[in-house]
Amino acid sequence: MISITELRQNPALLKLDLYCKGVRLDESCHVEEDGGRKILRTRAGLGSGLEMILPGNLWTNVPATEPFVARSPYTLHRLKGQYLLRWKGQDVTGVELSPRPGWYDRTTATGKPMTRIGTLQGTYLGIYQAKVCEYWTAKPAKVNCKFCSVGLNLGIDDADEKSLDEVMEVIRAARDESGITYVDFNTGHYEGDTYLDILEPFVRRIKEELGLLVGVQTPPHRDLKRYDHLREIGVNRVSFCFEIYDRELFEEICPGKHAEYGLDHYLEAVRYCAALARKGPRLEPWVTNGEIIAGLEPPESSIRAIDWITSVGAIPTVCVFRPLTGTDLEHSDPPETEALVPVFRRLYEACMEKGLPIGLAPNVHVSLVMLPEECRWLSPHRYPWQTLKLKAMGKLFRRQFERRLAA
Ligand code: SF4
Repeated sequence: MISITELRQNPALLKLDLYCKGVRLDESCHVEEDGGRKILRTRAGLGSGLEMILPGNLWTNVPATEPFVARSPYTLHRLKGQYLLRWKGQDVTGVELSPRPGWYDRTTATGKPMTRIGTLQGTYLGIYQAKVCEYWTAKPAKVNCKFCSVGLNLGIDDADEKSLDEVMEVIRAARDESGITYVDFNTGHYEGDTYLDILEPFVRRIKEELGLLVGVQTPPHRDLKRYDHLREIGVNRVSFCFEIYDRELFEEICPGKHAEYGLDHYLEAVRYCAALARKGPRLEPWVTNGEIIAGLEPPESSIRAIDWITSVGAIPTVCVFRPLTGTDLEHSDPPETEALVPVFRRLYEACMEKGLPIGLAPNVHVSLVMLPEECRWLSPHRYPWQTLKLKAMGKLFRRQFERRLAA
């Protein structure tokens, strides 16, 4: 049982516990009037909550609208203009609302609300590019991932069509006004594996005109050589969401991914892309992520996934399952925090043991997941040499990046 003292002292534990339980907003809260971000239902299911900043500068997105939140011990209050988090009526800590930038209330030159083109997930810009994932429109029956809400969201908070110019306009606004350093593109599955063809023109323009870091999260293209090309044109991150390492659960919960690509092809793509770190433009960093959702399979299986991903030189991205309203799993329980602590502890320890480059990107705070480096608060182990090395690498990387932006 987690105590209030631990929650007060350990921001990573607090971030994790809030993902699992959510927060109830007291009527004293005026999130938007106080400059906070409106709760949006965008992205593949996780960004449905309240964006806030916890102690330790941990940015997060806390469930606030799903039915399970009604049972949460956490409440958020506004006292004398400050936001205060309480647990079972006792004060835990002050928190900040993630600031809503001016561009959130503007439209593009073509008249679309800018937030329907892209939204901030913490401090980076996330864009769900192109039409809805075709698993949602498959005939005779849809084969979408059961936790996913993309097919419910599009057309509500996300625009169906986003032109190159519209996307560039929003990226410029986010760079100038929110100081973003990283743009993350996300697509679902499209017949003919067209997702990389769709994204490449965006990558080229961002690289040529703005020099920002760019990431691409799509299904694993059947022609893995395509990733050599992405590496060449300056993509900095590729991410493959296989979600579940347990084969039976993968097949059951991700029927489209299973039928179309299969878990083995996801793993092969992770392995292939991780090896590309040694090739490509010297000044463009390259990171490969394998993404899983903790809480959809036993913790031991999530830990096996983390160990496999790090063994091939990739970095795990570990989300916490959130039973979103309207999804096939909406009536499932969210995971128990205590069961997930070993998973996130292993996330940090495995990355440090393998010497992986975590926490290097300048000004990238992620609200949708626990970053590996944030999980250091969950581990008793310190890695002094690796920590020093990462600090030095981070400094160098920041300097190079700033020089490039100034050029
Ligand atoms: S691949 Fe699965 S998680 Fe991704 S958008 Fe399609 S249904 Fe959703």
